[in-house]
Amino acid sequence: MANKETKKTEHPDSLYASAEKIYPRAVSGLFAMWRSIGVVILLGIYYLAPWLEWADRQAILFDLPNRKFHVFGLIFWPQDFFYFAVLLIIAAFALFFFTAIAGRLWCGYACPQTVWTEVFMWIARKVEGDRPKQIKLDKMPWNAYKIRIKATKHFLWLALAAYTGFTFVGYFTPIDELTLRIFDLDLGPWEWFWIVFYSFATWGNAGFMREQVCIYMCPYARFQSAMFDNDTLIISYNEERGEPRGSRKRNEDPATKNLGSCIDCTLCVQVCPTGIDIRNGLQYQCIACSACIDVCDGVMDKMGYERGLIKYTTENARQGKVVSLFRPRIIVYASALLLMTIGLTYAIATRIPLEVDIIRDRTRLFNETDTGLIENIYSMQIINKDEQVHQYQITASGINGMKMIIKSIDIEVAAGEVLDVPLRLQVDPYDLKKRSTEVMLSVVSTDNPDIRMIEATRFLGPTGRR
Ligand code: SF4
Ligand code: SF4
Repeated sequence: MANKETKKTEHPDSLYASAEKIYPRAVSGLFAMWRSIGVVILLGIYYLAPWLEWADRQAILFDLPNRKFHVFGLIFWPQDFFYFAVLLIIAAFALFFFTAIAGRLWCGYACPQTVWTEVFMWIARKVEGDRPKQIKLDKMPWNAYKIRIKATKHFLWLALAAYTGFTFVGYFTPIDELTLRIFDLDLGPWEWFWIVFYSFATWGNAGFMREQVCIYMCPYARFQSAMFDNDTLIISYNEERGEPRGSRKRNEDPATKNLGSCIDCTLCVQVCPTGIDIRNGLQYQCIACSACIDVCDGVMDKMGYERGLIKYTTENARQGKVVSLFRPRIIVYASALLLMTIGLTYAIATRIPLEVDIIRDRTRLFNETDTGLIENIYSMQIINKDEQVHQYQITASGINGMKMIIKSIDIEVAAGEVLDVPLRLQVDPYDLKKRSTEVMLSVVSTDNPDIRMIEATRFLGPTGRR
């Protein structure tokens, strides 16, 4: 019995197979329990995180209009993209590391597509019943009962999808403010767009597309096998033990019927969310959700056979070879992961909450003042990345006798603010040895001297005056 209910409507010569709806049967067991725990933790984090407060502010808020990203008291700016880039590299190495050890662990337990699909399938089972009832309902002609059941399911799916879209926007707009404004229908066009878009994307991907996303749209499914080796954990059917498959009574000795342990109940196919038969070998459609392990272990228990006809194993274990965890690629991935994580943590912990940018006036190279001094004009941008106001003192060095003309040497910048400070540097031409000289502008917080930045710029002037 296949897991797919096929509707053959295409032309026999067609190159395209129509999508076949999959009705995964509910499953219980050890791995199903871990998957449920994973779903609760991951969705709990997603839905609750925007409601957390930190120092009287939303703990995680990506404030795009002000180009500030608040993460538990730290403020990141677009200039801090470096940290984000390193974080992405760490995430990529973590994926390589865990894939090399345990195969498609991400796909089966933590991918958002899997997590939301699990919840949508759970809702569908609560409303429509398990697999046989869902198949029966879909085959039934439209009537009041079918309309009521389908409408209830889609209402619940849409409600969850809408709250998911709302939560997503709550990471970018303060969520308590968003809550008040949504009831007054007082959101901006982009807020409406992203709530509606994200809601429909959730509804479509988790409700309808499901395994199609994993099989046809996800690039990871295609290249993850490149990270596998013979010691990577895979989910595998023990063909030697299971074959020849065939039905038998519980108290019958399979040896007398020349049968293996597989009773050909097809439950492993019926629970598979991608509709494949693991008994045909490792397939790229397998997302390693372990549902087939759980259900087959249940069958083995009922039959009084040893568990593990379908189980986690490795290619080397299958061939009776020694399994090695500490392979060169694992050591390389683990070392890179550890070093980058320590480096990023250290860089963030010791990050100076101050950014200084200096731009020379590009309209002219230099001016000559009435008193015969050479003058260069600059615009200094001071970004206070801290959560508190700071006073900064600005000094210039690099050329003998250089004077700095500035509105005030002590500058106050509010928390998380950007201040533009125009300033001019003046030098006696007899102190200039070159056409272009490096000068240093130093910005030091007067209330915390550890918060300091020294930026280099150029002072341009005439030559041959000495
Ligand atoms: S669940 Fe186990 S016994 Fe049943 S068909 Fe699958 S492999 Fe065979
Ligand atoms: S074959 Fe088994 S582990 Fe793979 S997707 Fe299907 S049920 Fe999940």
